Amino acid sequence: MRPVSSIPFEDEAKLIPVWSMIAAGVAFLLVEYYFWFVLPAHRHHPGPPMALRTYFNLSWGLLAAVYCLMLGYVKEDAPRRSMSAQFWMLVCLVLPGGIGAVIYFLLRLPLTSQCPACGTHIQNDFHFCPQCAWQVTASCGNCHRTVLATDQFCTRCGHELAHDHMPARLRMVAD
Ligand SMILES: [Zn+2]
Ligand SMILES: [Zn+2]
Repeated sequence: MRPVSSIPFEDEAKLIPVWSMIAAGVAFLLVEYYFWFVLPAHRHHPGPPMALRTYFNLSWGLLAAVYCLMLGYVKEDAPRRSMSAQFWMLVCLVLPGGIGAVIYFLLRLPLTSQCPACGTHIQNDFHFCPQCAWQVTASCGNCHRTVLATDQFCTRCGHELAHDHMPARLRMVAD
């Protein structure tokens, strides 16, 4: 089980589903079409200079595309954290300017995984399953911080971990 901070960006990017990438492409093209062809037809005065128009049109198109990718990411990411995908997709969609996505990243819960013994959803920073007390990660018997299964001494308090009667399933990893 890897700590959250060590998950590489590529793994996170893989979460973005294909449908949202397609939606992002379509949204980009639609926005470009609107700003280049539909809008100028309804404008009676000459628009801003070409460079400025290109800049704004591309920006709006990219924003629309990012919105679609964001929705796809939230849909896949929320269930990993026992959060409602529908609710958070709605929040991201309704709040303007990506504020919904910012709120999502501020409030999202830690990643969850399943207890190998009883299947309960547990957060990745848990040491023990709250339902069956299965030891999920190795922890120091003195200060209870997470330690590596291969560590001989606790990095925080220097406690000798061999005194902890490490459960057999963790000792297998250590040897
Ligand atoms: Zn359990
Ligand atoms: Zn310790």
